[in-house]
Formats: sequence, structure tokens, C-alpha cells
Amino acid sequence: MKSILKNAVAGLALAAAGSFAGSAIAEVTVIHAGELLATPGKAPKKEQTVVIENGKIKAVQAGYIDAAQYGDDATVVDLKDSFVMPGLMDMHVHIQGELSPSGDSETLRWSSEEVGMHSVYFAKKTLMAGFTTVRDLGAGSPQHVYALRNAIDRGWVDGPRIVASGGVSPTGGHGDVDGMRHDLLEKYTSKTICNGPYDCRRAVREAVKYGADVIKITATGGVLSDTNTGTGQQMTDDELKEIMDTAHSLGRKVAAHAHAAEGINAALRAGVDSIEHGSYADAESIKLFKKSGAYLVPTLIAGDTVVQMAKSSDFMSPAIKAKALRVGGDMLSHFEVAHKAGVKIAFGTDSGVSRHGINAEEALLMAKGGMEPMEILVSATVNAADLVGMSESLGTIEAGKHADIIAMHGSPLENLDELLDVDFVMKAGKTLKNKN
Ligand SMILES: [Zn+2]
Repeated sequence: MKSILKNAVAGLALAAAGSFAGSAIAEVTVIHAGELLATPGKAPKKEQTVVIENGKIKAVQAGYIDAAQYGDDATVVDLKDSFVMPGLMDMHVHIQGELSPSGDSETLRWSSEEVGMHSVYFAKKTLMAGFTTVRDLGAGSPQHVYALRNAIDRGWVDGPRIVASGGVSPTGGHGDVDGMRHDLLEKYTSKTICNGPYDCRRAVREAVKYGADVIKITATGGVLSDTNTGTGQQMTDDELKEIMDTAHSLGRKVAAHAHAAEGINAALRAGVDSIEHGSYADAESIKLFKKSGAYLVPTLIAGDTVVQMAKSSDFMSPAIKAKALRVGGDMLSHFEVAHKAGVKIAFGTDSGVSRHGINAEEALLMAKGGMEPMEILVSATVNAADLVGMSESLGTIEAGKHADIIAMHGSPLENLDELLDVDFVMKAGKTLKNKN
């Protein structure tokens, strides 16, 4: 019994280290980069060499250094015709599913195991699109995502590093289940639905106990919940405060889904680490964002997607359709104001609402909202790493960090469309895609 427990603990430690990458682990790889953006926010440099050993970056050097000096077995990756940068990071995905007219019936027909395998498929698609880290903000069964996260960390399947959430929501709130027969609703109601501050304290502790890296809360109503309860504040101030205190005391950050300004502001006052969507952020929100240093994760592509779906298909209920058209249409203008005012922004798509694998399309919408290409790249690397508390190991190409590296043929600083066509993906020193 004891040794089983010990093995389990050792396994957890390995998963936490997150750098085990199978057979690639003992090899040296030398990348010759035509143009290297080692640290987004600083200017890229031409003709650089990146040396990778044991899954981590060992050195970045000017010029094309001869690989032989790193041993006879060193592998050379020729990216002399490419723009090379750190792997992209998406701070808001739902890796378990994808919104579609047939989505609800799939949820009811498929076995839990099939849903799990579907997540594996979506994870691979996301990685191949150049996203080497994602933060999964829940829906469905968190245990699927924790299992996927651990399987990826152990090198069993290929996918992005996953920072996985446990969801905490009030009864009938956006994070609760809806739209089913009542006996099914009871069956699928999560243990982390809570009401009142002390119950929410319990819910946060349970989420952490069962595997959450981060706590996701639904501070306001949401677009895709079919309860006709609007998009206003749903968690009370005392619940929010208790959630933040409990999560932070357990070393977990809190991400708050929030549309209406009063819900955004209440979450910011309570000390939330990021606001997801932030669709109706107002002048007070901007003050609070700047005071607390919280990030805005805009998910503009989600707004765009639900507007298109509301217009072109009939599977949304009247309540959802009305919210989709209103909120989706309003997101970009509020984002523009928040960005102009200097709110810190971390890249996030809400993929699962939009299709997995097209995450980079968010960048085009961010540009439409007034962000410069370099700011967008910073939001998807340096800022995202900061938001998940992993700046020491992710976000830039610097000695000691994980070798999560992507490349494309042209510079996204000149043409953002290049992000949609990533030709090379390396994660933890393992080359997973190379179209060169
Ligand atoms: Zn979401």
C-alpha cells in the first residue's frame, strides 16, 4: 500500500516538472534562425543560433554556430529562411469540445471515453497550430482535462502544456449545467457549484484537491448558457472575496468569466488575476485593472464566432441568440478602449467556441482593435507566461527555459497572417512539426 502511494506521489512530481519528453530528452539540437524574436517586446535579430539540450534552451548565440562543437550527435535544424519565436500561449481554451449545431447531441450520445479522446485530438490540433501552452478554462469533466494534462506532461500523447482549471460557479450560474432533463441536470451537477462564501471556500478547496491548477469562476452570466438570466453579476461580493482568498492561500490564481461591468468590477475589487471576455469593461473597470495589475483576456474570436452562428444557424435558443448578437457585437469596441487605456492584455480565444487550431485568428481581431503586431506577440508569450506564473520557464527563448519554439516563413511583425501558417513546432526540445 505504502509503495503504491509513493509511486503515485512520484508520478505527480513528474507531472508537475512537466519537462519529460520521451526519447528526445538526451539530445542536443541546434537551430539556425534566419530571424529570431527571442524576447517579444525587443527587436528581433538576424542570423542567430539557438542551442537546445535536454528539452531546455542552453544558449542563444549570434551567427550560425557550427553544431559540431556540441558533439557529433547534435541535430541541426535549418530555419535560415524563417522567423523564429517562442511558442504561442492561449490563456482561454476549452479543449474538451467544440461548439457546433450537433454539439449537444454528441454530448449526450458519446461515452465519457470518447469525449476524452476527442480532447486528445483537439490538443494535437492546437499544438500543430503553434500553441505550445494553453490554459483550459473548463466545461464538461475537469478530470478529462487533468488526465490529458498529465498524459502530455509524461510524453504519452502530443499536445500543448495545459494549465487546467477547476470551475466554481453558483447554482444556476453560467458554470452550472442547464438545458437538460432535470434528472440529468442532477447527475451532471459538479461538486464545485457553491452558494454563499463558506460554501464557495469549500468548492475552491475541492477543485484544488481534485487537480485544478487555476480556479475559473463565472462572475457574471454568459452568452451560451440557456437560462435567460442575462450577462449581469451572478456571484456576490462576499462569495468573490472568499474564493480569491482561499485560492490564493492555496497558491492558485483565479480567472473570472465576466461580461457586465458590475461583475468585472466586483471581481477586480476582490483581487481576481484575470478577467475573461471583459465585454462591457467601463471607466471604473479600467481604473481597477490598472490598480490591481490583473490581465484582460479578450477572446474576441468567441464574440465573432457566436455572432456568425446566431446569424447563420438555428441551433441556438432564442435567449442565447439574443445574447450572442448583443455581446458578440459589443466586445471589440470595449476591448479597443481598454487597450488604449493601458490595461494589461493576455492572449486568449475561448477556442471550443471557435474551432480548435485557428487560435491565431484572434491576433487579427486584436489588430482590428488597435493592437500593434509586437504587442499581440507579447500578449501571447511574455504576458501569458506571467499570467500563469511561469515567466521563469516560458514566454521567451532564453537560457534555462523550456525549448518551446515555433517558426514561420515570413515575419508576423510585418504580416500577422503569418501566424496562421506555422511551419515549425518544437515543444520541450522535441520537434513535432517541420514543413521546411
Ligand atoms: Zn470560455
